[in-house]
Amino acid sequence: TQEFLGLSVAPADTAFGLMAEFEADTHANKVSLVAGAYRDENGHPWILPSVRKAKEHLRDTTHEYLGIAGSPAFLRLAKDLIFGPIAARLKNNAASIQTVSGTGANHLAASFLARHLRPKRVFIPSPTWINHHSIWAMAGVAVVEYPYYSPTTKSVDIVGMLNALDQAEPNDVVVLQACAHNPTGVDLSRPQWAQIAEVVWQKQLFAVFDSAYQGFATGHVDSDAWAVRHFTECVLAWENHPGLCVAQSFSKNFGLYGERVGALHLVIPQILSAQGARGSLMAIARAEYSNPPRFGASLVETVLADPGLRAQWEADLHTMSFRIRTMRRKLRQRLEAATQLDWAHVETQIGMFSYTGLTPEHVTRLRERYHIYLLPSGRISVCGLNEGNVEYVAHAMADVMK
Ligand code: PMP
Repeated sequence: TQEFLGLSVAPADTAFGLMAEFEADTHANKVSLVAGAYRDENGHPWILPSVRKAKEHLRDTTHEYLGIAGSPAFLRLAKDLIFGPIAARLKNNAASIQTVSGTGANHLAASFLARHLRPKRVFIPSPTWINHHSIWAMAGVAVVEYPYYSPTTKSVDIVGMLNALDQAEPNDVVVLQACAHNPTGVDLSRPQWAQIAEVVWQKQLFAVFDSAYQGFATGHVDSDAWAVRHFTECVLAWENHPGLCVAQSFSKNFGLYGERVGALHLVIPQILSAQGARGSLMAIARAEYSNPPRFGASLVETVLADPGLRAQWEADLHTMSFRIRTMRRKLRQRLEAATQLDWAHVETQIGMFSYTGLTPEHVTRLRERYHIYLLPSGRISVCGLNEGNVEYVAHAMADVMK
């Protein structure tokens, strides 16, 4: 028989397929290092204490629709969080709209830019979050990868990146991850960011920042927003800057994965008005989902607006990032003891993920022999490690590498 509309069965998403396999695995010592979601020291999902308290405040919240652009109070707080002191200088030249989390913000940026900026190409990092490919392909923009990570030096391939961006043409889009790069855990240094900002402006490229881990990387919201703020200063200070946008997710830093909380912020030079662009963003949102989800955004709004809850949230960020750093150190120590090799990268990489350098063969053996699940790229979610399994994982990794 023929498939309806000639559609062949699309390959399943690798990460979601592995997670299902893990769920079905009955082995007592199974370990999942796949999902990009925080787990506590017992391997359980963690409701942030700040969020738990905010939920008590919201017991009698309504279930009415939000406006098309979302909650104005949430958007103001979200904007302050990402832009910090610069937010006060963003007036008519900025437009913010609440989105269906970070994915929705990336998608809205792609739809909007494909329609109005009409870039010939979008440059995305190699490697990157897998959805960047799909989102931009769906928007009908040709996707080009720029070198980002060098497996030999285990650091950013800044020369490759600059050379690739040098090939871009005015109005092309460049996607940049704001911090805690997924999947490599390797970020640009501040001088490197400054170099990229210069090229983006000289080449008249439009930067789309994907900010999914603010506060998660270093535990400090301001240091993790440094690149976004530096580029925003450039938009405000440099003549003829094409502008930028920021796709902001609250999934990881508030642990609100399933609630779909996010925002898209567009920033253009101060002499221009973003009112028309705001209208167009709202028209796209209206046609796609009418208005964004209310509950998660109310939780973020409640936490960020209350000084006590905000202080608790910053402590929660510290708890998560500190546990992740501790696990990195322990994994490194145990791997170095078991292999006599240098595993410094596991400790120096930041954020939720580590690019271990394991090959797809190693990954298969880990799953078959030890019931340890990770992506074929060798990326592990460090959140899946805890005191109870780090020794087992290090021993298994050393064994499959023999
Ligand atoms: N961007 C990056 C780089 C990510 O890693 C993620 C989550 N894995 C997202 C965006 C979006 O996540 P969400 O839609 O849950 O906010």
